[in-house]
Amino acid sequence: MMSLLYHLNGELVERAQATVHVDDRGFRYGDAAFETCRAYGARVFEWNRHRDRLEATCETLGMAEAVPDDLESRVEATLSANELEEAYVRVSVSRGVQPGKLTPAAEVDPTVAVYVRPLCRGGVGGEPIWDGPATVETVETRRIPDAAVPVDAKTHNYLNGILARLELRESDADEAIMRDTDGFLAEGATSNVFFVDDGTLRTPATGTILPGITRERVVELAASVGIPVEMGRYEPAALRDADEAFCTNTTWELRPIARIDGKPVGRGDATAGDGDGTAGGGPITERLRAAYDELVERRCYD
Ligand code: PMP
Repeated sequence: MMSLLYHLNGELVERAQATVHVDDRGFRYGDAAFETCRAYGARVFEWNRHRDRLEATCETLGMAEAVPDDLESRVEATLSANELEEAYVRVSVSRGVQPGKLTPAAEVDPTVAVYVRPLCRGGVGGEPIWDGPATVETVETRRIPDAAVPVDAKTHNYLNGILARLELRESDADEAIMRDTDGFLAEGATSNVFFVDDGTLRTPATGTILPGITRERVVELAASVGIPVEMGRYEPAALRDADEAFCTNTTWELRPIARIDGKPVGRGDATAGDGDGTAGGGPITERLRAAYDELVERRCYD
């Protein structure tokens, strides 16, 4: 990997030196909040929404004051120190070093890290994040319910998604689709899921999923281009029988799904492309991908 500078507790440090203490509660218990963002043209897309969600997660964790006021300038400094314009940007805020007890101390001295790596957009800037539509599989691992760990909070507790992804070892699929504890469709290990039926775009309602920022944006874009949107509780079969399907997250943006549980989606519109970002999905997926691209262009390159 190229040499990178990370931003740790207010300082730029070489990636190899960007380490945390074993008594850090983020390491000990997953007691931390994070955001994965994406920079285009050196600007972080949807920064305000990411910052708001990070603050909301910290509030859920009872450490609302942990997010530093100058977080955005730390991110900008990290991008600029690495001369990165097209990048993956991750921001983590842990409750910090507190030896001993599970019960958190009232005083919080957070560990704050910003880490980046190059990502490719339009053929420039590093590795493409995906070079073909996704194959997905419904797994046995259920989405942790809101009553156990609030689903809106984006914490370092990712064992749920890790266990789901481990189930894919046999099949080599790209994403694991989890059901909620009632058996309804929830989300992927690191993505939200959408499908299209007779021209209507459908996605599981909030309450059993992480409300993704990309999901929210796609719903807004669909409304703005006149695609009917419905949010509800769906049987997993609804996804398998859909005309089109795609996953969303900040780094994948909208990633068409080609196969679900071994079966091609719809008429098999999702195409592999030739590894340069030309892969695509069905007509509604492509309209939404174009709308998303236009928004990125307008916000980040104008
Ligand atoms: N669900 C889960 C469980 C995730 O980890 C992610 C990625 N953060 C998403 C959905 C998509 O969220 P976003 O669009 O904000 O990246």
